Amino acid sequence: MNFKRVLIKISGELFSSGNNGFNNNRLNEICNNISNVISSGIDVSLVVGGGNIIRGREFQNSGIIKRETADSIGMLATVLNGIMLREMLLNRNIDCVIVSALDLPFDIKKLNPFVVNNLVQDHKTIIIVGGLGLPYFSTDTISVVGASLSHCDAILKATNTDGVYDKDPNKYNDAQHLTQLTYEFAIEHNLQVMDETAFLLARNLKKPIFVFSAFEENCFLKALNGEIRRSVVSDD
Ligand code: UDP
Repeated sequence: MNFKRVLIKISGELFSSGNNGFNNNRLNEICNNISNVISSGIDVSLVVGGGNIIRGREFQNSGIIKRETADSIGMLATVLNGIMLREMLLNRNIDCVIVSALDLPFDIKKLNPFVVNNLVQDHKTIIIVGGLGLPYFSTDTISVVGASLSHCDAILKATNTDGVYDKDPNKYNDAQHLTQLTYEFAIEHNLQVMDETAFLLARNLKKPIFVFSAFEENCFLKALNGEIRRSVVSDD
């Protein structure tokens, strides 16, 4: 397949070594890997997660703070990560712009189809932060929305395993790696690579999802070219 633009989902986890904060070595590696995709002639949109700081769903019925409050903090956490990423990409001479559904300072543009369309035409690297700007969603959902708005041919989801398995490979020795699977299969079997809302939207908007290990060198480009083990979730 000839890829013109791809959406790369960077989970918050990939920013950190443990549960919290930033790991500069990991960040450098991610930025080098993004840079390699762009150098190969493919434009990039990025969606940034916030799981290294907070995940709202973990506060559902916690009695500590309301889910909606945790989600608000979660959305802002993605903004911190996005600003970090922008700086590191600009340092590599990658022309990138942050967009968000939230109204934000620090030269962050408002996310809407017209702004995104112009950025796509100018071949800019687009960093989407703040999710959909609403609680109860995840950055998986905005990844699919962002992929569609910025005309991406595929969504790249780097994880801590080398693709999708029929059951949890960390718990079951006989878990089978799935090279190709449909959105229906992923939803029916409750495979936790993305949430159900994101899978349903990806099916409706026909955006294939590539799943692979974040810990392979040059993982994004290699996953696209089929040079590392991966799973592809699509219609067929
Ligand atoms: N979030 C939200 N609405 C959105 C996107 C994200 O409320 O549209 C909040 C939610 O609390 C989520 C957190 O932001 O847990 C961080 O996003 P996510 O969990 O997707 O980050 P990741 O796990 O990919 O690092």
